[in-house]
Amino acid sequence: MADRYLSFTGTAPGRFLTRRLGLPQPAKLRRDALDGGLLHLTAGKTDLDLAPVLERTGLAPDTDGRPAAVVLDATGVRDVDALAEVHAALHPVVRSVATSGRVVVLGAPLDADDHHQAAAQQALEGFTRSLGKEIGGGRTVNLVRLTDAAAAGSTLCFLLSPASAYVSGQVIEVGPADGSAAPPDAPELPLAGRTALVTGAARGIGAAVAETLAGQGARVVVLDVPQAEQEARRLAERLGGTALALDITAADAGERIAAAVPGGLDVLIHNAGVTRDRRLANMPAERWSSVLDVNLASVLRTTDALLGSGAVNRGGRIVATASIAGLAGNAGQTNYGASKAGIAGLVRSLAPRALAEHGVTVNAVAPGFIETRMTAAVPLFIREAGRRMNSLAQGGLPVDVARTTAWLAHPASGAVNGQVVRVCGQSLLGA
Ligand code: NAD
Repeated sequence: MADRYLSFTGTAPGRFLTRRLGLPQPAKLRRDALDGGLLHLTAGKTDLDLAPVLERTGLAPDTDGRPAAVVLDATGVRDVDALAEVHAALHPVVRSVATSGRVVVLGAPLDADDHHQAAAQQALEGFTRSLGKEIGGGRTVNLVRLTDAAAAGSTLCFLLSPASAYVSGQVIEVGPADGSAAPPDAPELPLAGRTALVTGAARGIGAAVAETLAGQGARVVVLDVPQAEQEARRLAERLGGTALALDITAADAGERIAAAVPGGLDVLIHNAGVTRDRRLANMPAERWSSVLDVNLASVLRTTDALLGSGAVNRGGRIVATASIAGLAGNAGQTNYGASKAGIAGLVRSLAPRALAEHGVTVNAVAPGFIETRMTAAVPLFIREAGRRMNSLAQGGLPVDVARTTAWLAHPASGAVNGQVVRVCGQSLLGA
């Protein structure tokens, strides 16, 4: 379903009229390339060596005062006085950031023994989220908490690229170096030689994820329910992968997946999901349990079976799909909201253990309003509200979720673990 309002505001009369009426002004997001150079700023005393990582972004240093990306290293901000340097660094340049540009603030983990440092570093979170809401023009603002620049390389490359077009207002924590941060030999095909399975991949977001991972070199297994087998097969053929017709709620789904990937899995994407909306007072038990079963119980069951049997290779990546409905709540979706919040709990608890015991990271993406068949079916006014009620004033595309998933699945993302990253244009819901 095309976003006609976005097309209209892209015309001169549309821009004029919507401005006069004080209506939202969505900018057409750049998903191909960023337009300009990179400006590297510092607040507080820092000893982070960012140069080699920033070089890998492919962005040249800004020379014309119209940067496509600004990186502010605020890891050394330890008190309120040093916060003034954040203002001093960004105040003069914020207006000049190119349309659809990026602002990435780098912070440090909160120091449990120093409440002044913790206050100043937490302040960066409120700063980032507020700037994201006011900056406009399709620009995004995110905060990365890190200790080691090299370990955060894949994250900075993602956030400073067009792949993160619909990711804004996020706080991402990157752990210490884990030995996997080195860039792969063929940077354009980081998943070459790896096997990725995507559930619910016959259409929508899952199909985009399968396509993106295949485009990065992965052998993909397109899993979907038997009723969608034809679509799954067609996609798998196009991507040079295989299809697996399987209802993910089957008790033996984990064993059947393991049997389908004799060499083991390197990337496991839990994307299959359903909605059965009804207010709680009108919700029969069947609607509750079917949603909980597909969206949460089957994710727990198959993850346990695949990790337990050693079917996920060391260095593997698991990415589950939450939703902003699970983080913010949504009327009529107590079942769906519960299932998606459950995904966040699963990720946070399992991530450290899965990494320690199996060398596998576990993260989640939480999409906001994404233009798919699921959201095309939403009544017009609710759909329009969903599209506009975010800092970018438009819906995301399946490819935005897919590219975020690909960053988490990247071989160099081993230090990103236990994160729930919203792909929602900084939705105002539960912001
Ligand atoms: P979709 O309905 O277009 O696709 C979901 C796919 O999952 C379908 O191909 C379906 O056949 C498959 N599936 C459903 N039950 C299954 C089962 N038991 N076993 C195997 N496959 C099964 O949905 P979408 O919009 O592409 O959403 C994908 C994921 O993203 C879901 O988890 C959804 O909850 C989540 N999400 C979507 C949005 C959005 O705006 N579209 C927002 C937040 C979260």
